Amino acid sequence: VETVRLDKLLANMGYGTRKEVKKLCKSGAVKVDGEPVKDSSIHVNPDTQEVEIYGEIIQYREFVYLMMNKPQGVISATEDLVEETVVDLLDPEFYTFDVFPVGRLDKDTEGLLLLTNDGKLAHELLSPKKHVPKRYFARIEGRVTEADGAAFRAGVTLDDGYKTLPAELTILSQGSVSEIELVIYEGKYHQVKRMFEAVGKKVVYLKRIAMGALQLDEALEPGEYRELTEAEVELLR
Ligand code: URA
Repeated sequence: VETVRLDKLLANMGYGTRKEVKKLCKSGAVKVDGEPVKDSSIHVNPDTQEVEIYGEIIQYREFVYLMMNKPQGVISATEDLVEETVVDLLDPEFYTFDVFPVGRLDKDTEGLLLLTNDGKLAHELLSPKKHVPKRYFARIEGRVTEADGAAFRAGVTLDDGYKTLPAELTILSQGSVSEIELVIYEGKYHQVKRMFEAVGKKVVYLKRIAMGALQLDEALEPGEYRELTEAEVELLR
């Protein structure tokens, strides 16, 4: 890790805005390696230097990793002039981390959405070459059959002519509405909905339940989120 400006570090840790932490430093409340530091623009190395506020050593972290159970009705973006975004749902303590959603779920799709400011990890998860599996639960109008499963295994042709990679369909229940799980290894726009369109069926409810080895925590209600554990972050690497 490189150095980071002291005011940015303290703001990221939730000690106030940059302006506020500047004042905090001026007041003498902040020490670096035991020495009061009044100038909040200095750079510190949080790996090797000890930063204290009012005598308490702070644990800095550069990256945050959040899993959200995205609710319907919000969009997978950081900001929007009109629509509510997933980032709008976060508590103020995360504002200064500049997190963004890793990939997109449709406005009416629920479920696992990872938010982070770790651009490298996000890039790897989204890289088309990596074929990171994404597991969805869906309700489909009409009766989903093994023929649909065979079609998805072979790859189906979407409305724009693209042929999908082999995907795995599990039928959970069949009826006037069927329940299924589908694992896909790519992430084209509206992919699950368009795959079902390709076999003449309509998705009426869609929820992502896993991405790579990371599973949605079922204790999270739609709109809730929590930080990943260290073990969960490792699962994504
Ligand atoms: N496939 C879709 O059609 N929509 C999503 O939100 C995710 C995958």
